[in-house]
Amino acid sequence: MIESGVSLGIESSPDALLRSVEKYLAQGYRRIKCKFKPGFDIDYLAAVRREFGSIMLMADANSVYTLADVPLFREMDDLGLLMVEQTLASDDIVDHRHLQAAISTPVCLDESIDSVDDARRAIELGSCRIINIKVARVGGLTEARRIQAFAAQHSVGCWCGGMVDAGVARGHNLVAASLPNYLYPNDIPSSDRYYADDIVTPSAYIDGHAQITLSERPSMGFEADPGVIERHTVAKWVFGGNRT
Ligand SMILES: [Mg+2]
Repeated sequence: MIESGVSLGIESSPDALLRSVEKYLAQGYRRIKCKFKPGFDIDYLAAVRREFGSIMLMADANSVYTLADVPLFREMDDLGLLMVEQTLASDDIVDHRHLQAAISTPVCLDESIDSVDDARRAIELGSCRIINIKVARVGGLTEARRIQAFAAQHSVGCWCGGMVDAGVARGHNLVAASLPNYLYPNDIPSSDRYYADDIVTPSAYIDGHAQITLSERPSMGFEADPGVIERHTVAKWVFGGNRT
């Protein structure tokens, strides 16, 4: 079983965000991640905390803040967030170290970590306490495995992030997230989070505990569905030809 969370975009008002959170909690997701940016940050997150109490709540800034915003992050410590993700620029490993030293909320790095060497530098500096491993971002399962193992040796927990993945990528993410040291719910949502028809069979759905059951089949555990792929194909190139 893999535990899933859901990642929610920035809404036009705190009320709109509350409605979105309510919808996904009703579907069973127990960890809510809210994107945030200046002007759409602490008030939005505080509203979610007030309305929904002790849910697993975290926030992802996609690199839009700087060290000048440390006072804001100190205030956000009071919200009891599970983590704040990628608060500063992706190459600001040193500044993330200063931020992590200044706040109690764990800093999670996403775009800053493309390889196990990036993970080593970030962990040695103390720039994060958590790493979001995206299999596609780090170049595949081998590097994802290296990062997971290195992080585990240094007591830095991981979880698996997502990128609007269709079923083939989701299958690989599920396999990665089944490894030890994936300690937090993953951004591996149900197939129907983004797609009416997934391109694999069977589709992946969360149960009432926001968990996806791992397939017993070898490899990623799902088969690509040629019928669905054909139905959604808008262009096709054929390479090669008959041998003479
Ligand atoms: Mg992120």
